[in-house]
Amino acid sequence: MLMPLGQGFSAVVTVRSALGALARIQEVLALPSEDDDEGDLDGVRAPVATVHAPAVELAGVSFSYGDEPVLRDVTLTVPRGSITAVVGPSGAGKTTLLALLERFYEPDAGVIRFEGADVRALPRAVLRSRIGYVEQDAPALAGSIRDNLLLAAPGADDAACRRALDAVNLLDRVDQHPAGLDAVLGDDGVGLSGGERQRLAIARALIGGAPLLLLDEPTASLDGRNEQAMREAIRSAAEQRTVLIVAHRLATVADADQIVVMEAGRVVATGTHAELLGTSPLYRELAEHQLLV
Ligand code: ADP
Ligand code: MG
Repeated sequence: MLMPLGQGFSAVVTVRSALGALARIQEVLALPSEDDDEGDLDGVRAPVATVHAPAVELAGVSFSYGDEPVLRDVTLTVPRGSITAVVGPSGAGKTTLLALLERFYEPDAGVIRFEGADVRALPRAVLRSRIGYVEQDAPALAGSIRDNLLLAAPGADDAACRRALDAVNLLDRVDQHPAGLDAVLGDDGVGLSGGERQRLAIARALIGGAPLLLLDEPTASLDGRNEQAMREAIRSAAEQRTVLIVAHRLATVADADQIVVMEAGRVVATGTHAELLGTSPLYRELAEHQLLV
């Protein structure tokens, strides 16, 4: 029996448009360098990223999901090449701040700049291709270890994959599996813990070469070995890019270049670990709570 013509035709169209979408995603992910990153949103041409501008700037940013303000007049600068940490109690607005940076939401007031360019002028796909975002609860992804790395760098060879895994302390873990890079994620393959999934996501950002890594540290406690592995992964990532990390464990960020303390949607203090122990009662309280002083 023949398939009705219309049905077959629409199936072809669907496959073709899916392939077209994939090709576009691959084009975006393969963007060569920031120099030819000229965004175009609603016909507005974005300013070319300024080489010497900070990685990220927020100026007077306010935001609410509904009636309650979640970010209130937040101003902060993330210097290029720095490790900047954002700490503060649960509900302070830390994850929201990362979400705004990625343009999952738009601020109600204020401006967010990425490398000097107003993010509103950067197409989301371009912005996100330049930001490695490691979520607080990194999802269990489908496919193999290799599939997950190639999402960010379609042409990467085995050596590049292995280097990225090594940088985040996952190479031994992968080599222990008979299928190696082709080991499939999930319960019947390489079962990765939450911290390991985050490190795989960091490896993806490394291999993709994104100049900014956003990392939302998990609240659930990591064991000592995993905590150490995470710290080393962050250090590797920071060698060639800016890292903005939301930290729940102050030990992770005690050596950050800059720590921003947030409380109830506001920035209440900024400094290094040593400075903040002296200047911020809230930071000191958090540190004492975590037996860091
Ligand atoms: P943190 O990461 O510092 O714990 P969040 O940014 O996750 O804080 O949340 C800040 C506030 O915004 C909280 O009161 C939270 O309940 C609220 N919130 C977070 N996400 C959403 C959302 N998608 N919709 C509505 N409210 C939200
Ligand atoms: Mg959070």
